[in-house]
Amino acid sequence: MEKVFETLIKEFSGMPFASPFSFRKNTTIGIGGEAPLALYPENAERLAAVVGALRDKGIGYVVLGRGSNVLVSDAGYRGVVVHTSRVNAVRTRGTVLTAECGAGLEKVLAVAKRNGLGGISFLCGIPASIGGAAFMNAGIRSGYIGEKILSVDVLTGGEFRTLAAKDCDFAYKHTRFMEEESVLLSVKLRLEKSAPAAIEAEYASAKAARSVLPKGRSMGCVFKNPAGESAGALLERAGMKGETCGGAAVAEEHANFIINRGGATSADVACLIERMKNAVFSETGIELAEEIRRIGDF
Ligand SMILES: Cc1cc2nc3c(=O)[nH]c(=O)nc-3n(C[C@H](O)[C@H](O)[C@H](O)COP(=O)(O)OP(=O)(O)OC[C@H]3O[C@@H](n4cnc5c(N)ncnc54)[C@H](O)[C@@H]3O)c2cc1C
Repeated sequence: MEKVFETLIKEFSGMPFASPFSFRKNTTIGIGGEAPLALYPENAERLAAVVGALRDKGIGYVVLGRGSNVLVSDAGYRGVVVHTSRVNAVRTRGTVLTAECGAGLEKVLAVAKRNGLGGISFLCGIPASIGGAAFMNAGIRSGYIGEKILSVDVLTGGEFRTLAAKDCDFAYKHTRFMEEESVLLSVKLRLEKSAPAAIEAEYASAKAARSVLPKGRSMGCVFKNPAGESAGALLERAGMKGETCGGAAVAEEHANFIINRGGATSADVACLIERMKNAVFSETGIELAEEIRRIGDF
C-alpha cells in the first residue's frame, strides 16, 4: 500500500477501513474495479475530520452512500472512498426529522412511521442513503426529497455550512451539490403528523407501485427524462428493450434500466449507454443526459 494511505490509516486508527475496496461488491449494479482504500467514519464529525485530512494531504476522494446510482470504471478509482454507512443516526423533534447522511431511506421511513410522521412515502423502495438521495434530489413523479428538506449540513470546499432548502438549488435530478465540492453531513426534513396505520398503508401502496420495476442488479434509471418526455418511452420506441453489450442488457420491463446479467463490465455498460443515446438521437434528435454518476476514468 502507498505510504500516504498507510499514514491515513494511522491517523484514523480504530476507524474501520477496507484496503483494497471493491466497487463490484459495494454497488447495486455490482460492477467496477477497486480503490486502494475506503474509510468508514462513525458519525458526521468524524466524516468531516476524514474529509479535512484528505483535503489537507491533497488526496482525491469520493463519498459513497449505497452505491445505487454510480457506474465505476473497470480500472477503479485511484483516491480514497469515504463510505457513509456508519454515519446513520436518525432522530425526530416535533415534525422535524434529522438524519445523518448514511442513514438508509428504509431506516428514515421506519423512524418517521414510528413517530407518526408522514409525507415521504414516495421515497419507499428507493435503495439509497439519505445523503445520496439529497445529493441527487431523489424521488418519483409524485414527490422529490428536496420538497421535504428544511436544511442540510454540508462541507462545501472544506467549510462547514448549514444551507436552507432554498439555497440548495433543488430541481429535477439536479442540486447545487453537483456543481461544487460538497459533502452532505446530515439532512433535516419537515414532515407531517399522520397516524402510523395511514402511513403504513401509504408505504404499502408505494411499494406495490414499484413492483413492476426490473428486478435484476441495476442503477435504477440511467437517463433523466427530457422536458415533457419519458426517457424510458423514447428508448422503448427506439427498439432498445432487450438490447445487450456483453453482460449488460436493457431491461425488458423498463427501457431506462440497464441490468447486469452476470459478469458485466463497466465497458459493457458504457457501450450500451452509447447505443441507447444514439438510438434515441437518430429517431428523434433528442440527446439523452445521464442521471447516473460515473466514477473513475472511462
Ligand atoms: C433498483 C433501483 C431503483 C431506483 N429507483 C429510484 C427512484 O425511484 N428515484 C430516484 O430518484 N432514484 C432511484 N434510484 C437511483 C438511486 O437510488 C438514487 O439516485 C439515490 O439517491 C442514490 O443514493 P445512494 O446513497 O445510493 O448514492 P450513491 O450511489 O452512493 O452516490 C450517488 C452520488 O451521490 C454522491 N453522494 C452520496 N452520498 C453523499 C454525501 N453524503 N455527500 C456528498 N455526496 C454524496 C456520490 O458521490 C455520487 O456522486 C434507483 C436505483 C436502483 C438501483
